[in-house]
Amino acid sequence: MRKPIVAGNWKMNKTVAEAVALVTDIKRDLAECSGVDVVLCPPFTALSAVSETITGTQLDLGAQNMHWEASGAYTGEVAAGMLRELFCHYVILGHSERRAYFGESDEIVNKKVKAALAANLRPIVCVGEQLEDRDAGRTEAVVEQQVRGSLAGCSAREWADVVIAYEPVWAIGTGRTATPEQAQDVHAFIRSVVREMVDDSIAQSVRIQYGGSMKPANAKELIGQPDIDGGLIGGAALDARSFVEIVQAAL
Ligand code: PEP
Repeated sequence: MRKPIVAGNWKMNKTVAEAVALVTDIKRDLAECSGVDVVLCPPFTALSAVSETITGTQLDLGAQNMHWEASGAYTGEVAAGMLRELFCHYVILGHSERRAYFGESDEIVNKKVKAALAANLRPIVCVGEQLEDRDAGRTEAVVEQQVRGSLAGCSAREWADVVIAYEPVWAIGTGRTATPEQAQDVHAFIRSVVREMVDDSIAQSVRIQYGGSMKPANAKELIGQPDIDGGLIGGAALDARSFVEIVQAAL
């Protein structure tokens, strides 16, 4: 049985004070959520304050990005060890916004995945097709290339710490969600790719989240699909009530 995982990607939103207020609300409502892994991914500037606020709870901390080197002359970047120091246990890698606006290729994502795993950070590796890929019937080809490229060379032991997020780019922040059937089809396909890359036991155990305009109204049906193991939530994660309701839908 795979334990569902719901992660909130706050993107470039929330000051430290706003972040603490949001987490305080989430914490109050999610005292009992042991059936779901809940991960909060604030911007770097709020990691420390959120980390302190969730100490002693079941809520977990994630970052939205990191560099693959451990230290050095990489102005503006943050290393895995620095995230671990703040008690981060997860890091989102290869989000479509990083791929589109910051030129992150599968090769770069792969270097980051390896560095995260080496530092005991669990990568949430994002993959997903553009609308034109879907319209041209290229969804599986695009997603397969991203999964194979981003996760190349991981050992079976490392795969145990990997989470994949399937996020069709046309559904992110658009209010347009993949239907549960569309999402399920791609999730099952991703699992088959993992089976070919590693083995059946890893394919059965790896958690695959859906992301793309997930909200309380559609979360239960999406997460209820056999190969959907939770959600990566953008917009709806900025509102405590909505985020809590999505987590409850995964229970
Ligand atoms: C995301 O950016 O990871 C995401 C899923 O965003 P939204 O929920 O706003 O579509």
